[in-house]
Amino acid sequence: MKKIAILGGASCSGCDVALFDLPGDELERFFSEVEVVFWSTTMDSRIEDFEAQGKIDLVMFHGGIRTEEHRKLLIQAREKAEILVALGSCASFGGIPGIANLFELDAILKDIYGDEFTKLSGERIPKPEERLKPISSYVEVDYYLPGCPPPVETISEFLDHFILGSLPPRGIFGKESTVCDECDRIKPEDISIEEVKRIGSKDWSEIDPKVCFLAQGVVCLGAVTRGGCKARCINANFPCRGCMGPAPNIRDQGARILSEIASLLMKESEKNLSDEEIYERVQKEIVDPVGLFYRYTLPHYWGGSNEEDD
Ligand code: SF4
Ligand code: SF4
Ligand code: SF4
Repeated sequence: MKKIAILGGASCSGCDVALFDLPGDELERFFSEVEVVFWSTTMDSRIEDFEAQGKIDLVMFHGGIRTEEHRKLLIQAREKAEILVALGSCASFGGIPGIANLFELDAILKDIYGDEFTKLSGERIPKPEERLKPISSYVEVDYYLPGCPPPVETISEFLDHFILGSLPPRGIFGKESTVCDECDRIKPEDISIEEVKRIGSKDWSEIDPKVCFLAQGVVCLGAVTRGGCKARCINANFPCRGCMGPAPNIRDQGARILSEIASLLMKESEKNLSDEEIYERVQKEIVDPVGLFYRYTLPHYWGGSNEEDD
């Protein structure tokens, strides 16, 4: 029987709990075909139990690396795993906790623990790393299952291939499409944004649920984001925030959408503006651009490498 371990770092555990979104019969079949040797979220698993394991066929690691403990656990996971999976966007790109990389570590610790930090350090508080990083910053990753959390269909398909021994070549396990490809909203050929609208703003009730968000002035990252989620946010009348990470062939998800929005903003009424002036408008109209464009990927693009930053 194949052995599986599921463990994590800086994680909300939404990714491994997403396994329970599998239909009951699939879950039953899965658990009857594998032996789960460690799963700290759902079993009374202690770290010593993991350390005592020899080779494990599949280790699914959720969450990024924020503390020394996370790093050591990940390195052990790599040593034991025949196949190591980055489960979810935190493990793959750093995820939402990676936004903390905008701030110096000392300032974060002081904000959270106040003056108690020095006193508690090394006792009750894990030793933090300078920056949160995706797991690929430390070890070689065999497969990435992006998403916050990954779509249940992707998890199901991956586990099927794993059990049957028919996994594809290593890399991102996902669709070669964008969220826009999966979105049913009407997208006009020619879009011009007169004003960027914020979610919940006073004119939010005027948003037409059948028409593309971008065409209505609402920032949506569907065009630059990998598909596979069946546009689940858009179907709930919420724009895509990019949790599946960059779409195939897009190197920088945030920069690409920023440039697209800049080109649509005031296309008609201010077509004589220079690039600098357009970017000024973008800056003025978009509150928290980093949180909007790099919500799930900041450490992947900035500060995720072990090399010195430029
Ligand atoms: S990717 Fe999302 S669901 Fe998964 S651990 Fe991170 S925040 Fe939680
Ligand atoms: S930009 Fe968003 S709303 Fe528009 S088509 Fe793409 S996914 Fe749908
Ligand atoms: S619509 Fe966007 S943010 Fe929502 S699940 Fe899909 S990729 Fe993630």
